[in-house]
Amino acid sequence: MPETISVRCCIAGGGPAGMMLGLLLARAGVPVLVLEKHADFLRDFRGDTLHPSTLEIMHELGLLEQFLRLPHQKVSRINARFGDLEFTVADFSHLPTQCRYVAFMPQWDFLNFLAEVASQYPTFQVRMSAEVTDLIESDGSVIGLRAETPTGPLEVHAALVVGADGRHSVVRKRAGLSVEEFGAPMDVLWFRLSRRASDPVDPMGRFDTGRIFIMLNRGDYWQCGFVIAKGSLAEVRAQGLWRSWPRLPQTASTSCKTGNRSNC
Ligand SMILES: Cc1cc2nc3c(=O)[nH]c(=O)nc-3n(C[C@H](O)[C@H](O)[C@H](O)COP(=O)(O)OP(=O)(O)OC[C@H]3O[C@@H](n4cnc5c(N)ncnc54)[C@H](O)[C@@H]3O)c2cc1C
Repeated sequence: MPETISVRCCIAGGGPAGMMLGLLLARAGVPVLVLEKHADFLRDFRGDTLHPSTLEIMHELGLLEQFLRLPHQKVSRINARFGDLEFTVADFSHLPTQCRYVAFMPQWDFLNFLAEVASQYPTFQVRMSAEVTDLIESDGSVIGLRAETPTGPLEVHAALVVGADGRHSVVRKRAGLSVEEFGAPMDVLWFRLSRRASDPVDPMGRFDTGRIFIMLNRGDYWQCGFVIAKGSLAEVRAQGLWRSWPRLPQTASTSCKTGNRSNC
């Protein structure tokens, strides 16, 4: 027999959308259960820029001060180079917000924080390692979710079921909801280069014909993103990154070429 739980709202997926919704409902007094298929929030890199508008929401929720105690880096200005012309493309210092910068923090720290705050509400529960596999339906209505957990099958009955289970959403598929594809003509290769104390501080974007390269200052390393055409990964792999390389700022290109940088 599956374990059975009844709750007002059940959310599939503990990403930013699911965890934030769980927190908002719990603090409004709505009993909510989030089912997350992974055992923790520590994932592959999925971005870590927290924009001024997101930080403003944290402020409105009264969480900003506590949140910013977590390690992060602040970026108030973004420079870019188009051909040989270098200039500032974004300056957040004039925004009418609490935080006039983009904060860099790994997404797992953000999710752990949301989980910690939400768990202070008795109306909030999160079950990790609980993978949603199907909907429970009755008379044409969705009345719950089925999930697999390390201790066996789980059935959750809920007045409201929310699918926040990401781009390959099981909930969406099972509910027969269709996706409107906008298409993405590019992929981004992410990697690290170690960073010297004498390197520039500000992030840098480099735009040349058919090439985009960005470097984000992560303290002791540069987080680098190299944009490639969709489907060209095999080609880039075959010819090597160096041959596909844009003309890099001197500091990074020299060291990478001579092998002085880690993870190159
Ligand atoms: C490489 C990369 C870089 C990015 N950079 C940034 C950035 O710098 N700044 C920014 O704001 N955004 C960035 N993004 C976008 C951001 O990551 C997404 O917008 C955001 O994660 C979407 O949140 P979500 O909760 O809707 O979905 P997701 O983050 O995909 O979360 C879905 C959750 O559901 C869980 N799940 C999936 N299936 C099931 C299931 N069957 N049962 C239970 N749980 C399930 C997953 O494990 C996951 O935790 C980036 C994305 C990528 C891929």
